[in-house]
Amino acid sequence: MAELVLKNVYKRYDNKEKKKEADGYAVNDLSFRCEDGEFIGILGPSGCGKSTTLRMLAGLEEITSGDVYIGKTRMNHLLPKDRGIGLAFEDYALYPPLTVYENLAFNMRAKKKTEEEIGKEIGRVAPLLKVEDLLQMKPAALSGGQKQRVNIARAIIRRPGLLLLDEPLSHLDGKMRQMLRQEIKRMHHEIKCTTIIVTHDQIEAMSMADKIVIMKEGKLQQMGTPLEVYDD
Ligand code: ADP
Ligand code: ADP
Repeated sequence: MAELVLKNVYKRYDNKEKKKEADGYAVNDLSFRCEDGEFIGILGPSGCGKSTTLRMLAGLEEITSGDVYIGKTRMNHLLPKDRGIGLAFEDYALYPPLTVYENLAFNMRAKKKTEEEIGKEIGRVAPLLKVEDLLQMKPAALSGGQKQRVNIARAIIRRPGLLLLDEPLSHLDGKMRQMLRQEIKRMHHEIKCTTIIVTHDQIEAMSMADKIVIMKEGKLQQMGTPLEVYDD
């Protein structure tokens, strides 16, 4: 659990000929603060820098300039594995040959946890995302919504200080999306992990997040509660 601070964060990709922005920054002087346990939604049109921001927080993309802090720790140069983050992207990236249980256990096995510890942690997160009945199934047998539940369960199993969700619902149909929105909100309420969700869907951001960051062309355009930023 920790507060997250972005201070004057910029990102310029090296392959400059592909840039669209006039000034060449995919993320341009982005600053905001996310309180411990808060749920933030980053909202904005395609190409405005949402995914780039999330990837920088995850350590998957280098920060061109500026600083990112979790609590008192400057994260800029930390390896992804040392950031205490949980990640769930649009693509589920579950291992097809493994059962749901083994998918959830995978990282803990790599860390040499005992079977008992692994079973206990899976027993803790499975009900949070309603995947208890799926544990012996293989990913191919699951619906899109079920896969995304497993994907998010896997992201929170190591009790991350920061949970990063990139368009987690965009592959799902309307009804499933609505259901999973409620599930994610409830899950957040239970684990109270600082959470950032990136989405281009206003309803999605508004219905889940405590605060919304609206980005436009790499910049922060507005930040506030869903009511404060609501625009129809
Ligand atoms: P998203 O907005 O969800 O990242 P995109 O279609 O924009 O989806 O990007 C898909 C992938 O292509 C990402 O991994 C991103 O890093 C990469 N990408 C996006 N834009 C460019 C670009 N202009 N040049 C090179 N790679 C890009
Ligand atoms: P969003 O997630 O809001 O759709 P992105 O962060 O994917 O936006 O992209 C922001 C800008 O950075 C876009 O102009 C995109 O083309 C560019 N971009 C994204 N990934 C790359 C990449 N790997 N290389 C070069 N440009 C990229």
